[in-house]
Amino acid sequence: MTTVPKFVIGNWKMQARHEYGLELARGVAQGLRDNPPPSHLHTILCPPFTQLAGVHSELDEIGLPNEQLALGAQDCYPAASGPFTGDISPQMIKALGASYVILGHSERRQNHGETDAVIRQKVKAATAAGVTPIVCIGEHLAERNEGRAASVLASQIEGSLTRGFRGIVAYEPVWAIGSGITPSHEELQRKLTLIRALLPMRLMTDDIRVPVLYGGSVTSVQAPSIMSIEAVDGVLVGSASLEAQSFLDIITAAA
Ligand code: PEP
Repeated sequence: MTTVPKFVIGNWKMQARHEYGLELARGVAQGLRDNPPPSHLHTILCPPFTQLAGVHSELDEIGLPNEQLALGAQDCYPAASGPFTGDISPQMIKALGASYVILGHSERRQNHGETDAVIRQKVKAATAAGVTPIVCIGEHLAERNEGRAASVLASQIEGSLTRGFRGIVAYEPVWAIGSGITPSHEELQRKLTLIRALLPMRLMTDDIRVPVLYGGSVTSVQAPSIMSIEAVDGVLVGSASLEAQSFLDIITAAA
C-alpha cells in the first residue's frame, strides 16, 4: 500500500521581520533535522518575497532535502518577464530557491481584486516555470449561510485551475481564516469530498490524487483532530506558523 503524501505549509503573509524570519526558518529546519518526520510528510515555508533568498540560505545551511523542507512564495505575476513594475515572475522566485507558490489566497482575491481568470493565468505561468502552484479556494460566510458553498467551490475550481492541473489545492473557508473558528469534522469531510469529486474536470483524469489541504485557524491544538479526517492531506497554516515550536507541533501532529 502506498502512503499518501501529507503537507504542512506555513504562510507567513506580510509578517516576520527580516531577522526574525531567518531565525524562524532556522528553528523549523533544526527541529526537523533533530526530530525528522516520516518521508511522506512535506513541509513548505512561504515567507514574503524579500525573505526568499535569506531563508533559502538558512535552509541550505541546515541541509535538509527539498522533499522534506521546501520554500514557497506567496504570489507571482502571470508572465516570465516584462514591463510590470513591482511584480515578481515565477522564474524569479524559482531562481531564489522557491519550488512552490501560493495562488488565489482570499486576501489577494479580496485586497487585489484577483479573479479566477487571473489566478488561472498565474497557475499556468508558475507551472511553465516549474514552480508547483498551491491554489486556495473557499467560500465567504454569507455564501455558506445561503447554502451556496458548493457552487462557489465548483466555480473556483473550474475558473482558477488550468486544464490538466498538477499542484496542490487548499480549501480555506474565508470565515475560518484568522477567526479562531474551524469547521466541524463533518463539514470538513463533506467539503473536501466535494472538492475531490469536482477536481477531475480540471485534472482531466480520475487517476491522480491531488493533495487537498485545509487552511483556517489551524493551531497545534486542533491539528491532530483535523489531520485525522480522512479527506485531509495536510494543512495550510497562517498565524501558528510564525512561531517555530507551534509550527513544529503541527508538523508532528500531521505526521
Ligand atoms: C491563511 O491565511 O492561509 C491562514 C490559514 O491563516 P490562519 O491560520 O491565521 O487562519
